[in-house]
Amino acid sequence: MQSFEQIKNIKFFLMDMDGTLYLGNNLFPFTKELLKTIKEQGKKYLFMTNNSSRSVLDYVKKLEKLGIEAEYDDFITSSQATSYYLLMHHKDDKMYVQGTNSLKEEFKSAGLNVTDEYAEDIDTVVSGFDTELTFKKLDDLSQILLRDVNYIATNPDLVCPTEYGYVPDCGSVAEMLFNATKKRPLFIGKPSPLMPQLAMDKWGYSPEETLVIGDRIYTDVKSAINAGVYSMLVLSGETTKEVLEASEDKPTFVLDDAGELLKILKKVN
Ligand SMILES: [Mg+2]
Repeated sequence: MQSFEQIKNIKFFLMDMDGTLYLGNNLFPFTKELLKTIKEQGKKYLFMTNNSSRSVLDYVKKLEKLGIEAEYDDFITSSQATSYYLLMHHKDDKMYVQGTNSLKEEFKSAGLNVTDEYAEDIDTVVSGFDTELTFKKLDDLSQILLRDVNYIATNPDLVCPTEYGYVPDCGSVAEMLFNATKKRPLFIGKPSPLMPQLAMDKWGYSPEETLVIGDRIYTDVKSAINAGVYSMLVLSGETTKEVLEASEDKPTFVLDDAGELLKILKKVN
């Protein structure tokens, strides 16, 4: 039997979206009340996503369509986390960004020195989920990565789901570049601990107050384990009981869905 006592002390909920709060275009029936309850109890939630190509505003629209009010500050995306990481560690670098125009704009508006032109004095390379990828960019990167530069990528996902199946994501492009250059990037998105760590840093919560909730072990739960925060797996999305049993990574809590979290929150407070 799991003990839910610790949930009482959790004040910061980092929430995966698809498979946790909704499935595709269908909102789960408990989601609105769950979010409302977290707020009413004086706690905080953020939506946490590895996606780097869609701007946060696209997510705001998507959630609005599903009936959830959200604003820019309610999100932590891998591109926001990357931008935050770059500001902390590579603030003055000249960086070549291989990504969509919206990603480049996001970095520029954060005050970073962004270019998409090949140059000899590039300090840092940043790679994102790039639906505007060209061979020219791969050629530029293959040259730049031969030098001693910092190499950062927004998310390690190999594929990104579409209506018909999958398209190659940031991790697949990193594989292509590895074949050409033998360099691998530092990945910022889940399962790295950086998104939860940066979120705690930015919003001022401790690991003992923080929980990552999601439907995937190898991204959501793993990022929580790596960051030393609580993890909660919901079985309303990708992960089956069989997969959970076979996994070496065990979440702190396992629930059928986030509706059970709602019940627990109402009970322990
Ligand atoms: Mg998910």
